[in-house]
Amino acid sequence: MSQSDPKASTFCMDDYDPSSLTVEAALERILATLTPITGVEKVALRSALDRVLAEDIRSRIDVPGHTNSAMDGYAINASEIPDDGTRELEVIGTSWAGRPFQGEVGAGQCVRIMTGAAMPLGADTVIMQEQVESSGGRIRFDARHRPGQNVRQAGEDIARGAAVLAAGRRLVPVDLGLLSSLGVGELGVRRRLRVAFFSTGDELRGVGEPLGPGDIYDSNRYTLHGMLSRLGAEIIDMGVIRDVREDTRRAFAEAAQIADVVITSGGVSVGEADFVKETLDEVGQVDFWKVAMKPGRPLAFGRIKDAYFFGLPGNPVSVMVTFYLFAQPALRTLMGEHEDATLRIRVPCASRLKKRPGRVEFQRGVLEPDETGRTRVRKTGPQGSGILTSMGEANCFIILPLESEGVEPGTEVEVMPFAGMI
Ligand code: AMP
Ligand code: MG
Repeated sequence: MSQSDPKASTFCMDDYDPSSLTVEAALERILATLTPITGVEKVALRSALDRVLAEDIRSRIDVPGHTNSAMDGYAINASEIPDDGTRELEVIGTSWAGRPFQGEVGAGQCVRIMTGAAMPLGADTVIMQEQVESSGGRIRFDARHRPGQNVRQAGEDIARGAAVLAAGRRLVPVDLGLLSSLGVGELGVRRRLRVAFFSTGDELRGVGEPLGPGDIYDSNRYTLHGMLSRLGAEIIDMGVIRDVREDTRRAFAEAAQIADVVITSGGVSVGEADFVKETLDEVGQVDFWKVAMKPGRPLAFGRIKDAYFFGLPGNPVSVMVTFYLFAQPALRTLMGEHEDATLRIRVPCASRLKKRPGRVEFQRGVLEPDETGRTRVRKTGPQGSGILTSMGEANCFIILPLESEGVEPGTEVEVMPFAGMI
């Protein structure tokens, strides 16, 4: 936050609110209530990208399946490598990739071999074609060779019976390659998690509608659309719900009926909580929390019938921060995913950062190389929770701990890169 940022002087007084939860405690409470979905569907290999694997995959074959050459050259027996001087061998045939040489290499013999071609019987070493003199069906080479060189052993990548991928892994491009190298063409993945979401607020208009006095365009539903799509959820966009008791009650009930998870934005801050709280009390069991963080202090979490419910704050940056910090790990767990993909690292900070003790701050930062090529972070411009451009400019959160009173330039800070997270 810069000196001239007007929000700096107007931030609320109760930073040390004893009733607030830490970020860790809030996440722990959320995760403790979750039971992952169990539904599994069979999909073709290409369709499995980004899906969560539902079965352990073991290899039924060796990869590579046969010992083969890593080079174009000549397959010999290691005993032919001379102690000094040179050795001459007769070339008795060729082993091509996919068309192995059928015979056996005997004393004084060798076989021309291509990259990926199976090693012939009697040979265990390959001499690169650039390292031989060849003429009249014979080759000559010197002593500078190592027994076993330039040979890839059967099963050196994946041995038959080896555990290759564990259930709970979100499949990435290399996994599709690995699975195809095992001959797996179809596999079990968790069914998609169904997530319904809507925005609350009388001031919100959808894209394409005219703006009246005091109206703003709804942006949260679009960032949520993006974040949920990236996670591979089946999304149900329920639009904007007016601040009308009956509409809100109906929207909550309908969303909980059709989805595994319901996510809303807005309506959970102090001024509005009573209204939404009363409505939610009728249809579910939801806790309203003050989390010791900025942005994103108000947060509601609980159940509406069989669905899990996240009531995210209304401010556009707060929505994204609370989504990444709380909703995303929860959704991943519900999807059956086992790995935590979020990385946190420490780097020097080039900016002066203002901060009050009593809350963890997630300032928006840019990780970049300094003049000498070392990685550092600087903050983006104004850090208000309504300034969505601060997220667009950033490539990481700078995480300032509860007790921090700010950061002087050159101090090391913790950052959470967006890469892999969104
Ligand atoms: P609330 O938590 O409902 O009081 O909202 C806090 C702030 O976020 C207000 O300035 C709202 O206008 C704004 N806001 C709430 N929902 C949205 C939304 N879907 N898109 C953009 N801004 C929003
Ligand atoms: Mg509102």
